[in-house]
Amino acid sequence: MSVLAIDAGTTGVTAVVVTPEGTIAAKGYQEFAQHFARPGWVEHSPEEIWQATLEATRDAIKGYDGQVSAVGITNQRETVLLWDRETLGSPRRAIVWQDRRTAAICTRLREEGHEPRVAQLTGLRLDPYFSGTKLVWLQENEPNTWALVEDGRYAVGTVDSYLITRMTRGTWHVTDVSNASRTLLYDLERGDWSDELCALFGVPRDALPDVVPSWGEIATTDPRSFLGLEVPIAGIAGDQQSALFGQTCFDVGDSKCTYGTGSFILTNTGTEVVRSEAGLLSTAAWKSPSGDLTYALEGAIFVTGAAVQWLRDGIQIVGSAAETAAIASTVDDSAGVVFVPALTGLGAPDWDPHARGLIIGITRGTTRAHVVRATLEAITFEVRDVVDTLPATTALTSLTVDGGASANDLLCQLQADLLGVPVERPRIVETTALGAAFLAGLGTGVWGSMDDLRETWQLDRRFEPGGDRARTDAAHARWRRAVERAKGWAE
Ligand code: ADP
Repeated sequence: MSVLAIDAGTTGVTAVVVTPEGTIAAKGYQEFAQHFARPGWVEHSPEEIWQATLEATRDAIKGYDGQVSAVGITNQRETVLLWDRETLGSPRRAIVWQDRRTAAICTRLREEGHEPRVAQLTGLRLDPYFSGTKLVWLQENEPNTWALVEDGRYAVGTVDSYLITRMTRGTWHVTDVSNASRTLLYDLERGDWSDELCALFGVPRDALPDVVPSWGEIATTDPRSFLGLEVPIAGIAGDQQSALFGQTCFDVGDSKCTYGTGSFILTNTGTEVVRSEAGLLSTAAWKSPSGDLTYALEGAIFVTGAAVQWLRDGIQIVGSAAETAAIASTVDDSAGVVFVPALTGLGAPDWDPHARGLIIGITRGTTRAHVVRATLEAITFEVRDVVDTLPATTALTSLTVDGGASANDLLCQLQADLLGVPVERPRIVETTALGAAFLAGLGTGVWGSMDDLRETWQLDRRFEPGGDRARTDAAHARWRRAVERAKGWAE
């Protein structure tokens, strides 16, 4: 029996049907609108996410000649939504993980001395990235809406819980540890919502979803709401943890790097919460039905593929993301142009919500190809900055990659050259969706064990490092100088 996986990403929703052999039998995709009402703000319409989910699922199901036995859900993390528990309609747009509007709230909480305790409990830091301060913003700026949260009429959740509510006609309000651990409200070591943090961020605990295991029979879809399908929802994971699972990174030290809207490097740290002084996050990876928690160390980079999207939709110098490889290949290097794509501030390892994008080194000889190449190089520099901060025990001997932008061969080659280790790309780069399918299939007996899942992993291509080390190191040093200039700009 095949499994349906829904990947409700930042750019769009992907739905895939995954066979017991671990291949993708059918796929649907629907992009949705990004709303940038003010500089630094990023919002999505919940209804549009839901409609895109139905559309993508309809296409995947249509393309598959058979039945699906379970559904797994993975999603953009940290993004917060409100909805009416009765009508399931949302009173406002979702505030997206990339949104920077809470920079001042973070500064205030830091000045009040809360950061060490918040970091100790959550493994995170005070940054607009995470859900908690977005909810503080709603309390302070939309008190009438928030009053209905306090009243119990509106539920609060992340994209996974919103979709599950819509798919079950409002019967279930649940999430999993990987999503919960990104809210600033979840006690990482204890494995539960924290009353102390709910009080600090002013969030009524009753408004939050129940935290359930990452796989097992979690809920059942209502055919009246979900395309006539009545199937168990049997897997949930935030997109990055799902990709970690989809890459079968089940052992301590296993790592992956996903190139999507942003890029995220995760290393499995097993049952131990490993903490970093160098800007990495400690996070929950997954929780088994018997309650065992697995943790990960994470380097979160906000804008990588989104910089390519900006070339396409913002300044419109490319027609598609895919053509960037060919355009960038028409020049040998960026001729001194450096692009720091801090379009929504900087995440790991620099963590500066006030940083903004910068293109420097432009001369009269600069062409579109140099800017496009500088964009791909920037992605590889950002990833190297995170890899350089990994603890010695998790030093990489190769980098396993996935995500939409990993389809770009030039990007993979530049990454291998810059890191000096091979880059390995699996046959299936929709690893995020694959992870959700694996969870749901593990939860319903399609696969009996994690070992069965490991056997499905297949290499597509290995990019060996080459090029001139001295030159790439000099380019990286120049990049770091540009990053310093981008910092603090919007303060
Ligand atoms: P998400 O799950 O975050 O929505 P995806 O994994 O679907 O992201 O990847 C989409 C992102 O990857 C977009 O930001 C897009 O610009 C970028 N992208 C897609 N294909 C390519 C490519 N061939 N080269 C570079 N970037 C790409």
